[in-house]
Amino acid sequence: MINKTGLVFFPAFDWSISDIHPEREERLLYTRDQIFEEGVLDLPEIVEYSPRVATPHDISRVHFCVPNVDDQVLAAHRIAAGAAMRLSDRIINKEITNGFAIVRPPGHHAMRVVHGNRGFCSINNEAVVIEHLRRTYGIKKIAIVDTDVHHGDGTQDIYYHDPDVLFISFHQDGRTLYPGTGFTDELGGPTAYGSTINIPLPPGVTDKSLHYVVDNLILPVLQDFQPEFIINSAGQDNHYTDPLGSMLITAQGYAQLTEKLRPNLAVLEGGYAIETALPYVNLAILLALAGKDYSNVTEPDYQPGKNVENSKVTEYVCRMVDSLQTTWRKSKEITIDQLCGSNKYYQRPKNIFYDTEYFEEKQLEKVRTCFDCPGYVIIDSHAIQPKLGRCRVLAISIHNRCCKKCIAEAWDAYQEAKKDYRYSYVYLQDKTEDTFITFRREDQSEWLTEG
Ligand SMILES: [Zn+2]
Ligand SMILES: [Zn+2]
Repeated sequence: MINKTGLVFFPAFDWSISDIHPEREERLLYTRDQIFEEGVLDLPEIVEYSPRVATPHDISRVHFCVPNVDDQVLAAHRIAAGAAMRLSDRIINKEITNGFAIVRPPGHHAMRVVHGNRGFCSINNEAVVIEHLRRTYGIKKIAIVDTDVHHGDGTQDIYYHDPDVLFISFHQDGRTLYPGTGFTDELGGPTAYGSTINIPLPPGVTDKSLHYVVDNLILPVLQDFQPEFIINSAGQDNHYTDPLGSMLITAQGYAQLTEKLRPNLAVLEGGYAIETALPYVNLAILLALAGKDYSNVTEPDYQPGKNVENSKVTEYVCRMVDSLQTTWRKSKEITIDQLCGSNKYYQRPKNIFYDTEYFEEKQLEKVRTCFDCPGYVIIDSHAIQPKLGRCRVLAISIHNRCCKKCIAEAWDAYQEAKKDYRYSYVYLQDKTEDTFITFRREDQSEWLTEG
């Protein structure tokens, strides 16, 4: 059988954040031209699909949209997530070997609770796919490798307490770039310790050090985790011409990365050099996925030997890889006891900044530290949304492998919260039943979405 690569191209030409925003309507215009000009769609290895539309239930498997899905999610978001879902279906059904969803809006900064748009993202496209794969096909272990220049903080947030989803992100160091997170000590909560791996890179990393990281850390960790499905959050803003990042990666560097990772599904995230980088990087990745020769794909201004890495950068990256290898090996021996003693819950306060609309959310996130299952998560979240005003909600998420005791406890917590006047909305996401319930205090109404 011939290896086939699926492509969904959804440019959302009617969606943007503002006229002067880098995530704007014409972002994929040049990529479209490049794909047509190179005749890529005529290759027998590449099959184009139309997207499907993600339903409110598909989205509610991941997110607590405040107050409701329809208040936070536009058609463009539903189609971008649906495009990735469509490819994942085709991959599982073995119609294609792998796929690339070249879509916008992006998603990796969208966290579990959604009060608005942050980092250009409203819903997390990759997470919608993961929950779909788990629910529809019973896939257990999934890995996401985030290769965008920005830390995939939304994806990390969603899977921080989930031992079945490995999240690996390399990105420009959070001390030098939005969103300011993704450090080496962020390793996952007590029930999922070691299933988050962050690789913060100093500005000025070239293909050389990037591939050192891939060969010596990312591939061995993936090998060890043995995922059944690999998703690449394929952000192209590590490119040397990108206006937001300060990295020096080339289209060839990205294509080789794709060849090594062998993702089942790549989903476009960032990439803001829309003429000089994005069309070339996207094309090179697509060819690499399809197993075609990509060696001729070069940027118009590319000069061999122009991007030189400072030796201090090289040494820094080597040392970090060394130390992360040790952390990864040791993480398996660390127990829940060691991480949070005899406490019933592990908890952490979080302040989340919505940069697009300029407001802050305050959260207290608690995880039941169960020895028999991954536990359930309770999030007390408070924000003053610009459009809807003050909103405090309680959101409870039950992992699909939760034990009976945890499920009962989580349902009790939901019933208790319904009586608590402080919460305008109370949500329960029960992944064991694929049920999502919303309670609205104002009129004491309660409704349910089912798959
Ligand atoms: Zn980015
Ligand atoms: Zn349990």
